[in-house]
Amino acid sequence: MSNVDSLDTIVSLAKARGFIFQSSEIYGGLSAVYDYGPLGVELKRNIRNAWWKEMTRRHENIVGVDAAIFMHPKVWEASGHVAGFNDPMIDDKQSKRRYRADMLIEQYIFKLEKDGKTDKAQQIQQQLDTAGTRKSLTEDLYDIIIENEIKSPDSGAFDWTQVRQFNLMFKTAFGATASEDDAVYLRPETAQGIFVNYKNVLDSTRVKVPFGIAQTGKAFRNEVVARQFVFRMREFEQMEMQYFVEPGTDEKAYEMWLEKRLDWHKSMGIRSKNLRFSPHPPDKLAHYARAAADVQYQFPIGWQEVEGIHNRSDFDLTQHQEYSGKKMEYFDQAQNKRYIPYVIETSIGLDRCTLMVLSDAYRKEEVDGDSRVVLKMHPKLAPIQVGVFPLVKKPELQELATRISSNLKEDYSVQFDEAGSIGKRYRRLDEAGTPFCVTIDFDGLEDDTVTVRHRDTMDQERISVGQLGRYIHDHMNSWQTPED
Ligand code: ATP
Repeated sequence: MSNVDSLDTIVSLAKARGFIFQSSEIYGGLSAVYDYGPLGVELKRNIRNAWWKEMTRRHENIVGVDAAIFMHPKVWEASGHVAGFNDPMIDDKQSKRRYRADMLIEQYIFKLEKDGKTDKAQQIQQQLDTAGTRKSLTEDLYDIIIENEIKSPDSGAFDWTQVRQFNLMFKTAFGATASEDDAVYLRPETAQGIFVNYKNVLDSTRVKVPFGIAQTGKAFRNEVVARQFVFRMREFEQMEMQYFVEPGTDEKAYEMWLEKRLDWHKSMGIRSKNLRFSPHPPDKLAHYARAAADVQYQFPIGWQEVEGIHNRSDFDLTQHQEYSGKKMEYFDQAQNKRYIPYVIETSIGLDRCTLMVLSDAYRKEEVDGDSRVVLKMHPKLAPIQVGVFPLVKKPELQELATRISSNLKEDYSVQFDEAGSIGKRYRRLDEAGTPFCVTIDFDGLEDDTVTVRHRDTMDQERISVGQLGRYIHDHMNSWQTPED
């Protein structure tokens, strides 16, 4: 289980410590849009860098691109987003609040499970799993809500509109004299920027199938429901990789990526007990998908998707070939044959991943009758990796501390702090997830040593100044996920 009982705990900490703020907060905020503060921007960048390193540098056959957010409108016709990127919505007539019908049902199931009503929960889950097979999806969802008398979570009313489909793409106009014909969309996923550059990458590099193209960047979705902090945003960041393979080798590649991606989550310090696969049942697969599974994390709001891994067949490239009129075939020289590659996709949301890291790291512990909040995240992700504290504000200590701090800054993000008692300084950096704090005292001036204090165990060790860089490096690399 997560150590956090409610999402609000993370929301408050994120705001108080400068990880994440609501967008335009002084104007009352903009729903489902968030800004990252000084700690958040570092954490997010560290996660993005870790993903990029894993997906590109550690693989000889994966290259990166950085495609524009605006794309030719035909892209979204070819991809199927104009016709089908919809979510089912339903309105509470009394409060006028809007809900995503499927999520309203999921929330209800979650509540039943929490209340120990597992039979009823299972029965409704089954109905949800087969929604769209009895009548249309919207009609089936409506029936489930009505039959089970699911009330509005906010007003408590049972006064619903019909379920309707709602397209999630943001539309805007291009150019000064724009008309309806010049409509463009803010991309709802980064994947299409990879597909439309597949030919360019093939022609400009020496990659050969199997190969991958990775990209990180902003995506925009006009989500129906946006009340779950950075779990579901209208502007968010994705990290996606499309792996192009020969048809027939796709199943093996899919299995390989499932395993690699789960391992990556664990290597980021996420506890195994909070991670699981959730394969999509064959009858729930998108029409183009041959297989799909989510990596789910046990968030404070329940088990939810953090990453999707999909075998997309040759659907995307075939569609782009048809809509653009450009050949998307690959010529396999060794086998002297042509084919349109199949694609295995790994798609993860950076903001959702950041929320996962914060939720998994969070602990509230009793220490000597006092409580401390500590973020036990992987040291490589920590926004501040080392705190440097002169014990008191004395020039000799400040001088040595400044020297130590500037040396460490070459390799780590360091915060120099001389305000307040040492205990308070430790607590401040515990809440920021800082794995090591270095304290400089008067004894150290004599024997050239400092105290290193460890965030997770609060153990302290005396280390010579000359060994400090290596000591931190070694401890960072041998860090083990605390399973508590
Ligand atoms: P969901 O079912 O939660 O709406 P999805 O299946 O539509 O998600 P994908 O289209 O597979 O999501 O997107 C890949 C990843 O992008 C998701 O696993 C998630 O981490 C992230 N993501 C998608 N939508 C959002 C959003 N609105 N806010 C934050 N992250 C998102």
